Amino acid sequence: MSIRIALAGNPNSGKSTLFNALTGSNQYVGNWPGVTVEKKEGKYKKDKEVSITDLPGIYSLSPYTLEEVVSREYLINERPDVIVDVVDASNIERNLYLTTQLSELGIPVIVALNMMDVVEKNGDTIDTASLSEKLGYPVIEISALRNKNIEKVIEVAKQVAGSGKVHTHVEAFDEVTEGYIKDIERAVFVLNNSSTARWYAIKLFEGDEKATKDLQISDSERQIVNSIITKAEAEFDDDGEGIITDARYTYISSLIADTVKKGRAGMTTSDKIDNIVTNRILAIPIFAAVIFFIYFISVSIVGAEPTDWVNDVFFGEIIGGNIQVMLESAKVAPWLTSLIVDGVIGGVGAVLGFLPIIATLYLFLAILEDIGYMSRIAFILDRIFRKFGLSGKSFIPILIGTGCSVPGIMATRTIENENDRKMTIIVASFMPCGAKTEIIALFGASIFAGAKGWWFAPVCYFAGIIAVVISGIMLKKSSQFAGDPAPFVMELPEYHMPLVSNVLRTTWDRLKAFIIKAGTIILLATIVIWFLQNISTSFEFVEFDQGSRSILEAIGRTVAPIFSPLGFGHWAATVATMTGLVAKEVVVSTFGVVAGMGADLGADDPNMIKYASTVFTSVSAMSFLLFNQLCIPCFAAVGAIREEMHSAKWTWFAVIYQLVFAYSIALMVFQFGKVLVLKQAPTIGTFVAGIVFIIMIYLLFRKPRKAKVKTKTAVAENN
Ligand code: GDP
Ligand code: MG
Repeated sequence: MSIRIALAGNPNSGKSTLFNALTGSNQYVGNWPGVTVEKKEGKYKKDKEVSITDLPGIYSLSPYTLEEVVSREYLINERPDVIVDVVDASNIERNLYLTTQLSELGIPVIVALNMMDVVEKNGDTIDTASLSEKLGYPVIEISALRNKNIEKVIEVAKQVAGSGKVHTHVEAFDEVTEGYIKDIERAVFVLNNSSTARWYAIKLFEGDEKATKDLQISDSERQIVNSIITKAEAEFDDDGEGIITDARYTYISSLIADTVKKGRAGMTTSDKIDNIVTNRILAIPIFAAVIFFIYFISVSIVGAEPTDWVNDVFFGEIIGGNIQVMLESAKVAPWLTSLIVDGVIGGVGAVLGFLPIIATLYLFLAILEDIGYMSRIAFILDRIFRKFGLSGKSFIPILIGTGCSVPGIMATRTIENENDRKMTIIVASFMPCGAKTEIIALFGASIFAGAKGWWFAPVCYFAGIIAVVISGIMLKKSSQFAGDPAPFVMELPEYHMPLVSNVLRTTWDRLKAFIIKAGTIILLATIVIWFLQNISTSFEFVEFDQGSRSILEAIGRTVAPIFSPLGFGHWAATVATMTGLVAKEVVVSTFGVVAGMGADLGADDPNMIKYASTVFTSVSAMSFLLFNQLCIPCFAAVGAIREEMHSAKWTWFAVIYQLVFAYSIALMVFQFGKVLVLKQAPTIGTFVAGIVFIIMIYLLFRKPRKAKVKTKTAVAENN
């Protein structure tokens, strides 16, 4: 028998973990809410007839956030055979709120009481049998993380689906609303005998416009319904939605009153850790220390010998050297040998040479995510962000963006407030993603003196955060984005030991994208760059066309004046910046090809250091780096921005804002740095940078504008 099972539940209740365990799939599991923004489908690994859908996490079925809309539409329109309500048993009271709503859909529900390991550890007990009886659904204790009892879920789901029995709504809930819901059900003709009667009756009561529109009831029915609601509202002295919400909570209290027993009162280990890491004074220093530590290990330890080995021995001798010898002995034309060795291996190798650094960085970030520390950071930063008009919710996409901007931008879907969401999309890519970390590592090693420059990478990380905050303040003050940030509610999951499979999966998922990019976009880009570099403006190979310039150099020199106020008017830096708009890895590979170092390129290669120091000073390197970090991330990210903004106008706004912001910051860094660090005399450039500085200060400290009146709601815009 083929059945369709939908996994529904609160964010972070373990749906994706259960989904992965059941389907053997490799879905991303995150220790914070909002990681699954779209539904995912898979087949039960022991029975291909059973298909399972992992829905986005939701707290309720009201159509307020995108996740709620996605989950609700799926359940209403697709009507799965069974809903498995994944409940975080360690937060059972709040989780049951959704349970009361799922039961109204007229679809069989079973409750998977997840995280029972946490409940046991805390010394709490749940009387599952009695809960199941009161609730009217099968309740199964599981631990998705520890793989306990999960097959039972499918077994029971099959029985329930096979029985064809749909649970009628819990009578107790009706009692609380004193039968008003039943009255509505009776009053509306189309509801008679329909399995969705309960759902629509409640939605009418709540005044849920979307559901009411779908229902299409007659005017006379509408009048009767309204009179029932008016009567109820008078009796309860509350509006329809409030009455229902109250009724749900009253019902939940009655459910857990004698089924859930809290064990030892007092602090769990998680609470104790939180007392330290979310402490008002210690939180930020600890966070800073953690970030410094991660970058120190990745860039200075792994970035030293292991990276040198990959660059010099693996790509240099083993691959580059051997291929060169092979090609030469096969009498391949010298230009083709050069294309393969200097162009392809040099360019792609330069990018892949940083793989050990990126892998280490991703591994650490994945561990922090998995143990639960990242959600604490969102919480800590919410306290600070709030002061600047941003919500901590904005920080989750920004943190994800530290791996890659594309999923970061996609993660903004969890932000209900449309303004906050747009703003977060615009600023999310300011953080150094994996590809930008390569540029940072290259400069950290070459300009800022190898291991001694270990402070450099974390500084770029914090520069990203500062750019987010500054932009947040400036944008928030404009009439377009005015308004208070939406409240940020997030429960902090219990800490747990990192799970090797989760950590490796997350790390690999992110690395894979990186490697695929190196094999496609970057490969193509390095080939194009090699040709442009080796063909002269009179269309001959540069080698045979002494004294003329390569096309690449000619392009670079034409565009360079745009960047010379920022200190990197050198044609190679200009070309690298331009190609970096395609993908930031190409910045590194461009230097690899242009510097003509072929397979020998290593960040602390003497050639590279020499080359870099002919192009950059410490000040212009900083300005170059910041420009590349803050301007348009890459084609893929712009595509994601377009997708998430649902509007060409806003995509342009984001792209132009990033360009102007990056240019202004780089201009100030270079012009002021020249005077303050390199002790040169001020010039007209210093003056212009001064004006930019004053404008920015004005935008930061002016009085906030009033919000524009919005005609459309967030939801309407999303649909
Ligand atoms: P989703 O948002 O509902 O998809 O939740 P996830 O599957 O992403 O899980 C959220 C977090 O809870 C992850 O860190 C999981 O490792 C963790 N988790 C999931 N199931 C369990 C469980 O049974 N016990 C414990 N201790 N942690 C769990
Ligand atoms: Mg999930």
